[in-house]
Amino acid sequence: MRPVILWFRRDLRLSDNPALAAALKAQCPVLPVYVLDETPGIRPLGSASRWWLDKSLQALHADLLKRGSRLILRRGVAADIIADLVRETGSAEVLFNAVFDPAVENRDRDMAGRLSQISCETRRFNGGHLLGSDTPQTKAGGSYSVFTPYWRAARAQVEIGLHLPAPDALPSPQAWPVSEALETWTLHPTGPDWSAGFSDWSPGEATAARHLTDFVDLALGTYGQDRDVPAIEGTSRLSPHLHFGEISPKACWRAAVSAAHRNSVPEAQVEKFLAELGWREFNTQIASRHTSLESRNFNPAFDSFPWREDPTLFTAWTRGETGYPIVDAGMRQLWKTGWMHNRVRMVVASFLTKHLLLDWRLGEQWFWDTLVDADPASNPGNWQWVAGSGADAAPYFRIFSPMAQGERFDPAGRYVQKWVPELRHLPAKLIHKPWLAPREVLMRAGVRLGSNYPHPVVDHEVARKRALEAYADLRTGQLT
Ligand SMILES: Cc1cc2nc3c(=O)[nH]c(=O)nc-3n(C[C@H](O)[C@H](O)[C@H](O)COP(=O)(O)OP(=O)(O)OC[C@H]3O[C@@H](n4cnc5c(N)ncnc54)[C@H](O)[C@@H]3O)c2cc1C
Repeated sequence: MRPVILWFRRDLRLSDNPALAAALKAQCPVLPVYVLDETPGIRPLGSASRWWLDKSLQALHADLLKRGSRLILRRGVAADIIADLVRETGSAEVLFNAVFDPAVENRDRDMAGRLSQISCETRRFNGGHLLGSDTPQTKAGGSYSVFTPYWRAARAQVEIGLHLPAPDALPSPQAWPVSEALETWTLHPTGPDWSAGFSDWSPGEATAARHLTDFVDLALGTYGQDRDVPAIEGTSRLSPHLHFGEISPKACWRAAVSAAHRNSVPEAQVEKFLAELGWREFNTQIASRHTSLESRNFNPAFDSFPWREDPTLFTAWTRGETGYPIVDAGMRQLWKTGWMHNRVRMVVASFLTKHLLLDWRLGEQWFWDTLVDADPASNPGNWQWVAGSGADAAPYFRIFSPMAQGERFDPAGRYVQKWVPELRHLPAKLIHKPWLAPREVLMRAGVRLGSNYPHPVVDHEVARKRALEAYADLRTGQLT
């Protein structure tokens, strides 16, 4: 019997996997494959994501071995690799879950055409999203660019369906094609390898499922309030698991909704969480119709925006040495752990684009390289949202004050104490603005501004005024 190729992409799991379910239904030998894609025009993974991928592939391979199967690894231009494998193995079909990214979808369409010439069919499924390509349309027949009406329409359209359990076994082919060794892919960061602090993460399907259960049991009930507090684990931290498809958004949806049905979690909290999954869908549908979202302003009025160039300030931002404690704490959390709390992502992104007037693309690229959840839709989508150039963007006059954000969302200063330990002995009321602390207080806390902690790299009021002026010019059309 001719085998079928099950091409894993951003769906590194065995449960709730429609492509896998279809492969089993075909009752043929199944060849699970992962390709480290080098197709020109498809954004290569950033360094932190490569670290995650390494561990996630190990977990998937182990899960397949337990079921009498294995994962074939190949590296190169994916369509060529898959066509080679089809020829080598005589496969009749290639099954995969869609990635709603224009470059990937074009590649998949071309590949399908090529494969049909060698008598191999392709079938694609939606395994990674709540809606897939059935995204809602406005009354005028267009796509939504504003989240609230989008989500109202989308939420009504979501069909979760039944859970697809992981199979006990996968039928194997008589002979396995050669696989590359994962170690030869050198997926850990080099020069330098800063991944030591990522060890709290445990990539893979089993951990993702445990994580979801813990979140629903322990944090979902207070999600609405706690999700903005970076010092506590008030959010799910499922983003890298969701990005790599170790868990499906439908599984998250089911778990949250069933907690509401059991009355163990108030419905409003569940709805808030579902709406965040909605933002993931929203960003995906924006990116799927706006190519190169990581380099092209969604709003072309921003094409002439006068971004400044200042590599020294950019470096201070990346290193968490801006002199604004909440910004520095976030940037250091990102570097150490590969993840940053959502509230703080907004603050650091606003600081880069508005206080420093540096191009959002620089920040997006830094996040792309350092986030374990770096996502080609959500990362540029959120960056453009904060910068003001995106769909449903934050209004231009919203310039977060790092001090006010810190005082509001980290009132006891615990988040700053953790990530900026040189400030940990400052009293809470000064920890977000150490430059206002009297000399004796600084001395007692061991803080030497300009020596062991920087002075602010820009003055807040001056920077705010400058940003408002630049953005006002944009609004009045003076930048053409
Ligand atoms: C500048 C900036 C860049 C970002 N880059 C990314 C990125 O590359 N990848 C990424 O997954 N998220 C990104 N986000 C969104 C958000 O910060 C993360 O999804 C969230 O912090 C992940 O933590 P969590 O899993 O605990 O979230 P939870 O609060 O538990 O939310 C559950 C899930 O909903 C989704 N979600 C939540 N908020 C958003 C959002 N604003 N946009 C899209 N999806 C969302 C995520 O998949 C998340 O795992 C970015 C936000 C900002 C402001």
